[in-house]
Amino acid sequence: MTLDASKSADAKPIVLIVDDSPDVHRLLKARLRVEDLDVHSAEDGAAGVALAKSLHPSLILLDLDMPVMDGYEVLRTLKDDQSTMNIPVIILSGLQNAQDKVTAFDLGAVDYVTKPFDIAELKVRVRSALRMQQLIQMLSQRAQIDGLSGLWNRRYFDTRWTEEVSRSSRHARALSVAIMDLDHFKSINDTYGHPAGDAAIQGTARILQDAVRQSDVACRYGGEEFVLILTDTAPKDALVLCERIRAAVEATAWPMHPDRKVTISIGVAGSAGACDATPDAWLHAADQNLYAAKKSGRNRIVSSELPTSTTGKLRAAG
Ligand SMILES: [Mg+2]
Repeated sequence: MTLDASKSADAKPIVLIVDDSPDVHRLLKARLRVEDLDVHSAEDGAAGVALAKSLHPSLILLDLDMPVMDGYEVLRTLKDDQSTMNIPVIILSGLQNAQDKVTAFDLGAVDYVTKPFDIAELKVRVRSALRMQQLIQMLSQRAQIDGLSGLWNRRYFDTRWTEEVSRSSRHARALSVAIMDLDHFKSINDTYGHPAGDAAIQGTARILQDAVRQSDVACRYGGEEFVLILTDTAPKDALVLCERIRAAVEATAWPMHPDRKVTISIGVAGSAGACDATPDAWLHAADQNLYAAKKSGRNRIVSSELPTSTTGKLRAAG
């Protein structure tokens, strides 16, 4: 599967403590040791923000009362930054009044624990915040996965494709996209029933997952259509990969209709580097190639190279 789980399942959750008191760090590190957490410390606000960006912790325990950059400012800075805005923050504070709590929650804190804290209570609040964070991550990943095939869905593809095209054009890197469509899919559904059609989609999805590298992105584009983003892959290499996929689909024996083969047509568009085609233009080219593959008899691949950009030529010429 090519999902990029940002952290491996067996890694300990990283907890970052931001507090100007060395005693708090000592106490928390000692008491949280049994919790199977990877605990990091920052003794001022700026260091806390920097570590939050580099470590991507699962949780931050944040003191409000600190010199120079106080906890409120740290919280504001974290919430303003795309890369840190979703990290849950528990405030640890000696400030007891309701207004401080309201301000902290308004700024996006998930919990507020007053000092001196009861360590047993803090532990359950830490556990609860981590559990919630895990659920949110799981749900947001699920929302991007197609339920039938287990591949990334169209919504994920749209975002990711735009990113990959701009990355490729910025760094003059090779990139290819392959749009593929099962041939005569309607007749499989009509002849053998929808479960057979679903099985063909799932079987094809497995072939795609087995064929691509970790860095590639396999998506269900809709209906019986699939799309592959092949990063750092020139069209001639994309063609080799797609031929493997085409042959594997053709060679598959389908339990619900052993006498009826399933085949796939594929349109590839790519660039060996330095291309400034828009994401849409790129997809349009692949789509045209898919259409040509269908027109010329199906169960085949049509591939083309996108024109090299002028800026790319200049760069290549040094
Ligand atoms: Mg303090």
